[in-house]
Amino acid sequence: MKSSDYALGEASSNHITNTQVSGNKFHDGFQRQFSYLRLSITDVCNYRCNYCLPEGYQCDEQYDNLTLEEIQTLAQVFAQHGTRKIRITGGEPVIRKDLTDIIRVVKSTPGIEDVALTTNGYKLEDKVESWFDAGLDGLNLSIDSLDPRVFQTITGHNRLKDILRGLDKAICLGFKRIKVNAVLLKSYNLQEFDTFLHWLQHMPISLRFIELMQTGDNGDYFRQNHVSGETIKQRLLAQGWQLKKKGPLAGPAQEFEHPDYLGSMGLIMPYSKDFCDSCNRLRISSSGKLHTCLFGDGGYDLRSLIRNNHQADIAHEIQQQLLDKKASHYLQQGYSGSTRHLAMLGG
Ligand code: SAM
Repeated sequence: MKSSDYALGEASSNHITNTQVSGNKFHDGFQRQFSYLRLSITDVCNYRCNYCLPEGYQCDEQYDNLTLEEIQTLAQVFAQHGTRKIRITGGEPVIRKDLTDIIRVVKSTPGIEDVALTTNGYKLEDKVESWFDAGLDGLNLSIDSLDPRVFQTITGHNRLKDILRGLDKAICLGFKRIKVNAVLLKSYNLQEFDTFLHWLQHMPISLRFIELMQTGDNGDYFRQNHVSGETIKQRLLAQGWQLKKKGPLAGPAQEFEHPDYLGSMGLIMPYSKDFCDSCNRLRISSSGKLHTCLFGDGGYDLRSLIRNNHQADIAHEIQQQLLDKKASHYLQQGYSGSTRHLAMLGG
C-alpha cells in the first residue's frame, strides 16, 4: 500500500465502511483485533497520586510531545486500520494548551467515531464546554475519594469540590457517557465503598472501581494496598448488583447494574483470569512509541515515521509489532515490564 492511499484530506464525513477496513485491521496472532487507541499526549502530571507519582512528575528527559500534525497522522493511520475509538490520556492531558484542538482534529478524522478523554479534573469546570463543542464524546474522570481530606491524602491536592462542580457541568452538557474512575486502596478509600455506591443512586454516570496494579515503582505500596477485584465483585453481587452481558466489542471491564441506582458500575480487574482475552487496545506514548501491552518490555519508536508522515510504513511497523504481542501480561507473577508508573502511558 502506498502512502498516498492514506491521504484522506478534508473529508466531510467520519464514516468509513467496514469493507474499506476489512482485511487490514490491526490484529495479533491470537485473533484479537484492535479498534481502540489510547493516545498519551504528555507524560507530565500535576498530581502526586501516592500509588502513581508520589514525588510528583520527575522530568528525566527533555519532553518532546507529539505535535498536533503528528497526532493527526496517527489518527488517520489507526482509523484506516480499524480503530474507531481514541482515548486521549497522559500524564495529565489538560496540561496541554492545545487539547481542544487535539480533540477537534482526532474527532474529525474519517473513521474515528468516538473520542474520549481521561483526566484528573484539572480545569474541568472552565474547559469542559470547549471540549464538548470540539466533539468530545466521553469523559473519564479520576476521583479516588469523595472525602476531601482523603482525596488530598491520595492525590496531593485539595481540589475535590472544584472537580465535582466540573462533573455537574459535564453532566448538564449531555456527553454520550461519563465515567468516574476510582482505584480502591486498602488503607485509604476502601471504607468509602458504600459512600461511592450511595452517590451512584442519583448520579447518571458509570463508576469504575479499578484494581490497583503493581508497577515498577510501587511494589511496597501495592502489597499494602491492593484489594482484590474478586472481593469487590462478590460485595456488589451480595448487594443486588447484576452482571450485564458483554457485547461482542466490549472491553475488559465487567459491568453491573442495579434497578435502584441511576448510575452503573464497572470493575476493571486486571488480575482476573482471561482479562487479556478481550484486549482490543493499543497505546501510543506522548513521544510516539507504540506499546502493544500496558505491561510490555518497552515501546517501539515510530517517531521519525510519524514526523515524516510515512503512513504506510507506520501501519506496517504497527502490524509487525503486533505479531509479537503476547497472549497476556504477567501481572499475576508480579511482572510489570518496563512500566514504572501509569503516568508514562496513561493507563
Ligand atoms: N491524569 C489522568 C487521570 O488522572 O485520569 C490520566 C492518566 S492516569 C495514569 C489514568 C488512570 O490510571 C487514573 O484513573 C489513575 O487512577 C489510574 N492509575 C494510575 N496508576 C494506577 C495503578 N498503579 N493501578 C491502577 N490504576 C492506576
